Amino acid sequence: TGTLYLIPTPIGNLQDISQRALSALAEVDLIAAEDTRHTQQLLNHFEITTKQTSFHEHNWQHKIPELICILQDGQSIGQVSDAGMPSISDPGKELVAAAIEADIPVVPLPGPSAGIVALIASGLVPQPFYFHGFLSRKKNEQMAELAELKERRETVILYEAPHRLIFTLSNLVKVIGPDRSLVVARELTKRYEEFLRGAAGEILDWVQNHSVRGEFVIMIAGNSAPDVTESEEAVPVVEAVGKLVA
Ligand code: SAM
Repeated sequence: TGTLYLIPTPIGNLQDISQRALSALAEVDLIAAEDTRHTQQLLNHFEITTKQTSFHEHNWQHKIPELICILQDGQSIGQVSDAGMPSISDPGKELVAAAIEADIPVVPLPGPSAGIVALIASGLVPQPFYFHGFLSRKKNEQMAELAELKERRETVILYEAPHRLIFTLSNLVKVIGPDRSLVVARELTKRYEEFLRGAAGEILDWVQNHSVRGEFVIMIAGNSAPDVTESEEAVPVVEAVGKLVA
């Protein structure tokens, strides 16, 4: 049988692709991509000509039997998402499960994932951490999820879509309170990368008063951590941002 390779791609900076990812992308028989047009740009940049097929949240059910047949036929497949690690808040897990079920070797390649990249520079306790990914988009469900996250003692990692940052931060401040330490990592690995560190309420104010754009990871200090107002180490968000601008 063939092998299923899980291939991470950059989360913004093309230089973050690994040598091994490039070899795998070039050598597999087929790339199963979340968005073939998006991945084609990456392939073009690195002059890779491997053919692609689409594999995403709307077609995975009928694609899986097809891909498993290809693998059983002895061909190798590389699965990629638009950015970062496949399966991490992205398509992939059902294909991995089906491959395991069919005794097909699954080989994961290491690479960038926004949550881990954000966590190591957050200044928050790096472990234990709890990776939640995206919250529900519906307000009531999101508030209920936040109420559960409020109690967690681990650092919590959340993903959020660019246009929903203020909505989610407002709900977070309502449910978890304005004093909990928060870190928002913006545009990781890109030109305007920055970290907003401070109390939840301060960060919400700052974000509301500046037109903050881009992609974000939100990290919430565990409920065992001291509130920003009690901690000597806490740096007010405006100061942290000022340092970055200077
Ligand atoms: N599979 C990806 C990974 O391993 O990180 C995550 C894909 S998920 C659909 C996209 C979300 O990841 C964004 O909404 C944002 O929360 C986060 N993200 C991805 N790239 C980012 C970046 N460069 N800076 C900050 N957050 C990012």
